[in-house]
Amino acid sequence: MTEIVYLFDIDGTLLRAGGAGSRAFDRVMRELHEVEDASVGTAFGGKTDPWIIDQLYRRHLGRAASQEDVDTFIARYLPYLEVELATRPLRVLPAVEDTLAALGQRAVLGVATGNVAAAADIKLRYAGLTGHFRFGGYGSDSWQRAELVAVAIERARAFAPPQAEVVVVGDTVHDIAAARACGVQVCAVATGPDPADALGEADAVFARLDELLPWHHARWP
Ligand SMILES: [Mg+2]
Repeated sequence: MTEIVYLFDIDGTLLRAGGAGSRAFDRVMRELHEVEDASVGTAFGGKTDPWIIDQLYRRHLGRAASQEDVDTFIARYLPYLEVELATRPLRVLPAVEDTLAALGQRAVLGVATGNVAAAADIKLRYAGLTGHFRFGGYGSDSWQRAELVAVAIERARAFAPPQAEVVVVGDTVHDIAAARACGVQVCAVATGPDPADALGEADAVFARLDELLPWHHARWP
């Protein structure tokens, strides 16, 4: 069994959905609560779907979202996300496909994303990346990013030994904080909303994802 596990964030790290998520969120807020352009001014990067929904509820409805609110919201959100992605194609970031293919020969790959699992599946499917990942931790596992990373690490035990080294790969300060909370390594790629100089707490910061390959080879020749 391989001894290295990579946990990839999705949005801003592997792909850019071009606002499909926020447009789908807006449609649900309009439908459920007659709020227009609800996500304008709300930063999505690195946050879990339930956390974003809770933020929208607090801002526009003046109350927290319950788990029931989140479940109702997500059930309406998923078909809209799919429609948005079918209408305006997402963009897979440079060198992602080749990097995952090469790294997958040497390590176990999973995802650690704030998307609920069904939304992650939809995005990866539209990006043609589904086959690279064997498991994941998701926004449907926890509202807190550190907790969903912990869930992903737990699930990695089915594919790698307990002593396996874990590396989180993400594009925001939230990915870095979550990895640190779990005591694992973290590489940041400056292809999302956070500029490279904001990601300095990571073990390595890359301009493109393929810089991960030489980093991996230097660590585990
Ligand atoms: Mg991200």
